[in-house]
Amino acid sequence: MTDPIWDEFLQFNPNPNPSSWYKYHCRSCDHTDWIEDIVVDAFPPVEPEGFPAIVCPECGGSFRCDTSEPVKRSRQHPDHAR
Ligand SMILES: [Zn+2]
Repeated sequence: MTDPIWDEFLQFNPNPNPSSWYKYHCRSCDHTDWIEDIVVDAFPPVEPEGFPAIVCPECGGSFRCDTSEPVKRSRQHPDHAR
């Protein structure tokens, strides 16, 4: 799995240390966000999908991983990356 843009990026950034970002979707208020792997790994994967349930930052509801969205590799929040 190679990405020419990413490969070029690596040449100029020898230690990019990208994170994996998982798409999360609130079951109560439809809030969505990307959750970094360091956060996901900090919680026990109690959901059937194998991901932890996180409290929605908007409404306190059930914030669940949307497994239909592919995981993103990025150094910063995908919504803020160019
Ligand atoms: Zn919510």
